[in-house]
Amino acid sequence: MKIFYTCEYCGEHIDTLEVDQVDETKFGFDCLTAQERQDIIKTDVTENAMYVKSLCDTCITSMGLDDNIMIGVTSTNRSYIH
Ligand SMILES: [Zn+2]
Repeated sequence: MKIFYTCEYCGEHIDTLEVDQVDETKFGFDCLTAQERQDIIKTDVTENAMYVKSLCDTCITSMGLDDNIMIGVTSTNRSYIH
């Protein structure tokens, strides 16, 4: 399965991962509520792909955010992207 990370803010492609199996704990998805999962993760079964919303470094910088004040899934995303 391929996992595509896209910046929620500017739409920039961030990263693509290819995995045999999605380990929800490793990816931090188990920390999300059902609502957050619906908002953040789109699964395309026919394409065998997942689309995950995140934020790119450019937008994080331009918004003046840093890891200390980023909350919820965004900080979780960043921890496994990098
Ligand atoms: Zn961006």
